[in-house]
Amino acid sequence: MLKDQDRIFTNLYGMHDRSLKGAQARGHWDGTGDILGKGRDWIIAEMKSSGLRGRGGAGFPTGLKWSFMPKESDGRPAYLVVNADESEPGTCKDREIMRHDPHTLIEGCLIASFAMNAHACYIYIRGEYIREKEALQIAIDEAYAAGLVGKNAAKSGWDFDIYLHHGAGAYICGEETALLESLEGKKGMPRMKPPFPAGAGLYGCPTTVNNVESIAVVPTILRRGAEWFAGFGRPNNAGTKIFAISGHVNKPCVVEESMSIPFEELIDKHCGGIRGGWGNLKAVIPGGSSVPCVRGENMRGALMDYDYLQKDLRSGLGTAAVIVMDQSTDIIKAIWRLSAFYKHESCGQCTPCREGTGWMMRVMDRLVRGEAEPEEIDMLFDVTKQVEGHTICALGDAAAWPIQGLIRNFRDEIEDRIKAKRAAKPSGRVAAVAA
Ligand code: NAD
Ligand code: SF4
Repeated sequence: MLKDQDRIFTNLYGMHDRSLKGAQARGHWDGTGDILGKGRDWIIAEMKSSGLRGRGGAGFPTGLKWSFMPKESDGRPAYLVVNADESEPGTCKDREIMRHDPHTLIEGCLIASFAMNAHACYIYIRGEYIREKEALQIAIDEAYAAGLVGKNAAKSGWDFDIYLHHGAGAYICGEETALLESLEGKKGMPRMKPPFPAGAGLYGCPTTVNNVESIAVVPTILRRGAEWFAGFGRPNNAGTKIFAISGHVNKPCVVEESMSIPFEELIDKHCGGIRGGWGNLKAVIPGGSSVPCVRGENMRGALMDYDYLQKDLRSGLGTAAVIVMDQSTDIIKAIWRLSAFYKHESCGQCTPCREGTGWMMRVMDRLVRGEAEPEEIDMLFDVTKQVEGHTICALGDAAAWPIQGLIRNFRDEIEDRIKAKRAAKPSGRVAAVAA
């Protein structure tokens, strides 16, 4: 378990003083100019050594991503864009940072932008995050007034501006290229990659898009050292991590912990255990709605990190939004709800996603009622495979994976429901065959 002195986001649990004064009392904005004084190469090398992987869900190494930005300007401006469009069902960790620790994010924006030769940073915040937008804007204004951002930011000699852009509530605008389109004033539709944003991003200029948590941990990593951060978790799964735990636990919470913490420890220490005890655990979605669910008994020994959840359990850490479901859950209906969500949020520009999400949701609809044919289970699985990997952005995968997880882990429950329905009331087809 992470010790209090190793927490980065202490204000998540403390006095909730998010003012500049409070942030400075907790050690933020301390010697920021000196950190910049160590130079771009040092900052990027430290970030690489820290082992930080992107906290938005995909886990791409942050230092490596920064190193894709051009070292020298080719005449185009460079940009940092912070993805604060947190919309993955179950995920509310960035919300807590922006509510309670906005200065850690702003300081991280300055350091990251400097490391990537960017004089401007845009934070794209989710439309529904109204109080968080207000908190962040107040903190930005405080930072400007104190000379920490703006001209000669933090007395570093570096001019830096930061802008807050309020989204309009579309899930797809959290996809990094749709976000850039939206920021440019266009409809939020994902672009084909490559080119990746580092080559052609905002207004066609070199851009790095990073998640809120990824940027907010930067100042502490550089202050305490890459080795300190890399000391938590396991190789390839380093650092501290914010987990958002919801569902059938006794005390749902958002908590910073060491990466690779055992699932049982995470739930017992911070959530007071599973509602009704561990024997009542049915299923867990360990990383936000885009990753497959796992049977409860398989989660008992799980380590909460990228490699364990992906390699051992065929799921993922994703956004570390842990959704816990006990035996009272209708798991087929729970996954159907996600199917309906992805159908609604598809931007519709590629056929497998536009048509596939609707098709999958309609079959799921019948599975919930037990009104499907048994052979449709395999057919549905095949369709998820036709959608997965065949779309412009990851929304297609995100729609397919929860259904794959359901069929892999709870096929017996789907079959039982079809059988029960038939036993209760023979379907037209069964009745016709019998006649
Ligand atoms: P991705 O793997 O395509 O990309 C991850 C990041 O790495 C991107 O910034 C991308 O530009 C960069 N990248 C990847 N390969 C690269 C390369 N070869 N060269 C240069 N840069 C490269 O994933 P994604 O589509 O950005 O994200 C998908 C994940 O987002 C899902 O797994 C899900 O967990 C998560 N997600 C999060 C939220 C949220 O609210 N936080 C919402 C929806 C989805
Ligand atoms: Fe749009 Fe879906 Fe294609 Fe993504 S996968 S671009 S959301 S249609």
